Amino acid sequence: MSQELRSTSPADPRDEIGRYPIANAAAVGRAVERARAAFPGWRDLGFEGRAALLRRFRDISADARDQLSTLIAREVGKALWDARGEAKLVPAKVDLSLDEGMRAVATLEAGPGIRATYHPRGVLAVLGPFNFPAHLPNGHIVPALATGNTVVFKPSELAAGVGDWLVRAYEKAGLPEGVLQVVHGARDTGEALARHCEVDGVLFTGSYAAGRAIEAAAIDQPDKLVALEMGGRNAIVVLQDADLELAVAETALSICATTGQRCSCASRLFVHEARIDEFSDKLSAVLRGIVIGNPLDEGVFMGPLISQAARAKVDHYRALGVQAGGERVLCVEPDLPSPFVGPGLARFTNCEQTHPMQRDEIFGPEAALYPIADLDEAIAAVNDSDYGLVASVFSKTRANYEHCIGRIETGLLNWNKGTIGASGKLPFGGQKRSGNHRPAGVAASLYCTNAQAHLENEAPFDPASLPPGMPRP
Ligand code: NAD
Repeated sequence: MSQELRSTSPADPRDEIGRYPIANAAAVGRAVERARAAFPGWRDLGFEGRAALLRRFRDISADARDQLSTLIAREVGKALWDARGEAKLVPAKVDLSLDEGMRAVATLEAGPGIRATYHPRGVLAVLGPFNFPAHLPNGHIVPALATGNTVVFKPSELAAGVGDWLVRAYEKAGLPEGVLQVVHGARDTGEALARHCEVDGVLFTGSYAAGRAIEAAAIDQPDKLVALEMGGRNAIVVLQDADLELAVAETALSICATTGQRCSCASRLFVHEARIDEFSDKLSAVLRGIVIGNPLDEGVFMGPLISQAARAKVDHYRALGVQAGGERVLCVEPDLPSPFVGPGLARFTNCEQTHPMQRDEIFGPEAALYPIADLDEAIAAVNDSDYGLVASVFSKTRANYEHCIGRIETGLLNWNKGTIGASGKLPFGGQKRSGNHRPAGVAASLYCTNAQAHLENEAPFDPASLPPGMPRP
């Protein structure tokens, strides 16, 4: 008998979501073979045929939005408002991919007799994270399928139920056998899938450590596409002329959404020295008022962290704060039962960031507050990071923000908006340890395809075209 993965709710371990068979290397191999066999038929169905099935999936997932939100809230502990937001993104991804997404891979007509066309790679592996267990894998799956690839999907072992739900919804839409399959398991299953020589590309969303391991495992397969969407240590800059209420509200949201477990959550706050006391007081007041509780209860803003281990990690980094030279200005209800956790804030006297507590991705509602004297100091401080996913600048002066564009080293840079949230009509990806230059979002269709360049001629043979010294046939 195969081993089972048992998924339970982090908010209530008695709430069992389901049991799922763990795929060993042999089972992964069989799924990849089925995907390979299904590939030519799916490719040759053509865009309109594939799009019709994807639109059916869109309608099925839109109708089942409430069911999906509740499942997300139960399985990963996301508060209902947040889970509902994610469930809405699942059907929305279809039209975005079929419209804006396909424009990126439309035939490039470069002039008479020269064009480029875009084609599916073949079999793609999708490896999903726990924190957006439906939307983020789906962000790879829809463009992969739309462009004609077949997919083997391994959801996070902490969100197997949502992963399974997603694939069942595609099945209901009538996808042909083998076009999209799910394999369950943790790291071993993911490794077996990513390394498989018949997998043409790995579309990964998760931590830097796992992304690095996947890249290392593919070192002898340079022809394999590896698209990595990884972690963040995101920054907010608040300049002297900022609308402070707006900055505080957006910062609190950016620290605490999904209990600090978004790749885009803010954890480094660089605030002008003239306003930092006021900012700290106002932000602490908001964070103190955040409603923490059962994710299924209406009115709760923040559910638990994903696991006891995640809570232990947050506690560990908080304990290191003093060693790092910080003063703890806030730690809301430190005695909350694990894996629930309250927001926390540590304040530093300068923006040197040398301690791991200031550099690692903590992945919880914990932020560090630093004074800055001017915009250039803020830019240098934002860039003093191993990650480069998102940054936000708060200032009433547009020129201040414009000065940061291209100078702040992140894949996303926002103005008077927090770090969380993104438009599906734009690329989504980061620099440094946050990604490997293959942004997802609207750009995902690019990494799902191979370009083929064509020189074309309809004219008859012209002897004058021959170079000197070449005899005429
Ligand atoms: P994780 O890295 O622990 O796991 C992600 C997936 O990779 C899981 O399916 C896991 O089983 C698998 N995996 C782990 N090790 C592997 C290996 N060696 N080979 C193959 N597969 C392996 O990440 P997580 O804890 O589920 O998610 C949180 C992380 O994801 C955070 O770092 C967060 O910042 C990041 N994230 C990034 C984005 C983005 O778009 N940049 C979005 C969401 C989350």
